[in-house]
Amino acid sequence: MSINTQLQARCNNACELCSNKDENLNAYTVPPKTSDFIDSQVVLCSNCLNQISESNYTDTNHWRCLTGSIWSETAAVQALSYKILNKLKTEDWATETIESVFLDESVVEWANAEDELEAAKVIHKDSYGVVIETGDTVILTQNLNVKGANFIAPKGTIVRKIRLVPDNAEQIEGKIEGDTIVILTKYVRKSV
Ligand SMILES: [Zn+2]
Repeated sequence: MSINTQLQARCNNACELCSNKDENLNAYTVPPKTSDFIDSQVVLCSNCLNQISESNYTDTNHWRCLTGSIWSETAAVQALSYKILNKLKTEDWATETIESVFLDESVVEWANAEDELEAAKVIHKDSYGVVIETGDTVILTQNLNVKGANFIAPKGTIVRKIRLVPDNAEQIEGKIEGDTIVILTKYVRKSV
């Protein structure tokens, strides 16, 4: 996205991370924010933007610029710098910078939010650790006492077209003898 006059004034026509005066400056919204308010955006040169879009932070020399940009007065620049510094923790200078800087709690939260969202994603796995998804067929790995229905589904029972319980990685739903019941993922094996 091109940068508007407000951003232009803020960044002084230079990349807000590496100070490169690139002809193609871009407005980058720091995730997980999606709005294009300038408060959520950082002006980036194409070099910085490419590396960030590819999540490729191997050019550690380039990213030494963050030891300067982290002291920016703009929260978005602080958050993005902090975020990238955290991906460079094998570098002593990066760790030292993280430790020496004082950031507002909200900035740190912003910087960590995307990784936390990623980590919180609920993933369902069968008893062997294989990822299972809605629509899969599973096999019971032990006898299951079906509460309320008064029967035992024997080990080996095939349950087709299961549905994942969205907020609980340990539970799926499936039909056994016409009844939809909740089954624990640790008692099933995905059928291939
Ligand atoms: Zn740059």
